[in-house]
Amino acid sequence: MKSLYIHIPFCKNKCLYCDFKSFEGKENLMEQYIDSLIVEMSLRVSEKVQNIFIGGGTPTFLKEEHIKSLGEAIKKIQKAENYEFTVEGNPGTFTREKLLLFKDMGVNRLSIGLQAWQNSLLKVLGRIHNNDEFIASYKLAREIGFNNINIDLMFGLPNQTIDMWMDTLEKVVDLNPEHLSIYSLIIEEGTSFYDLNEKGKLLVPTEEEEREMYNKAKTFLESKGYKQYEISNYSKLGSECKHNLVYWELNEYIGCGSAAHSYIDGKRYENLSCIEEYIDAIKEKAEAVKEVIINSEEDNIEEYIFMGLRKIQGISLQDFKNRFGKDINEIYPEIINRHKSAGLLIVNDENIRLSENGIELSNIVMSDFILTV
Ligand code: SF4
Repeated sequence: MKSLYIHIPFCKNKCLYCDFKSFEGKENLMEQYIDSLIVEMSLRVSEKVQNIFIGGGTPTFLKEEHIKSLGEAIKKIQKAENYEFTVEGNPGTFTREKLLLFKDMGVNRLSIGLQAWQNSLLKVLGRIHNNDEFIASYKLAREIGFNNINIDLMFGLPNQTIDMWMDTLEKVVDLNPEHLSIYSLIIEEGTSFYDLNEKGKLLVPTEEEEREMYNKAKTFLESKGYKQYEISNYSKLGSECKHNLVYWELNEYIGCGSAAHSYIDGKRYENLSCIEEYIDAIKEKAEAVKEVIINSEEDNIEEYIFMGLRKIQGISLQDFKNRFGKDINEIYPEIINRHKSAGLLIVNDENIRLSENGIELSNIVMSDFILTV
């Protein structure tokens, strides 16, 4: 069974570090966009789905009437019995009415973007909310009955000290969310942060400090009952994100909306990312695919390894054999042995995974698994 990803490309303001396919000041297109999205879903989603994830952008920034019409379309989609249905939201855009509409369409998991606890850091990042608004959004979601909540956090931020990072984690853990996503800031080309950094105006932590932030977070969260199940993701037992596991296990998903990606029958599809072009393409041709890439067997093997090694439990040897008809050790005998001897990979009868040192050097280890040049 496939999963379904739905992209909402609207944000109230563009954060200064963000290179996602999201746009500010395009609210006038919301109605037409939702109409097109509903058409695309009706044409592409005819089977039962395992999970749904509405991401963005800021899905909670949609107006109530748009959430309502999207909800009517989603209610028609058949869902697996134990389906997970996540919606992403940002404080400052949540209202009781919107959350109730999401609940009514079947959403059972919320993912809230906080990033940092301190208002000074939120300002540096260009976030639209302050800390009080985050707390209010979180409490509102709990009060309405959402019992599976993720909070997104970032470390390695400009002006962020290790103490500020630990304070963020302590305050967030006090709220008792089921899941935490913790990513280090990457300064991407094309963002405001990139320009500021080029001009030497961003004071970011050193690599050593960043590593310390990562390690301290891991120790602290594990002491509080959160299990690291992927390099950047922690959860309480049984609250791992099922939708993201679809990506990490190279399973199939349908992506609807501008810039959405799909992976179906070994093919990768990417939709047009410009909102206007997406709307026009759906109107004119009833599809908005920009590019289709037919994965070779080598591509599938590489992707399976890159994604699989992100999971703390690593790659299942049996699953690899079932998918590709070969033992992974037959394909990479020398590479696996070398990294095993260097203490970067741990290999047992069931799986291959990165060691703690291996996680720190994951880019180097993973690049050795590239088959195609
Ligand atoms: S809210 Fe999220 S998607 Fe929107 S601009 Fe900020 S980081 Fe990007």
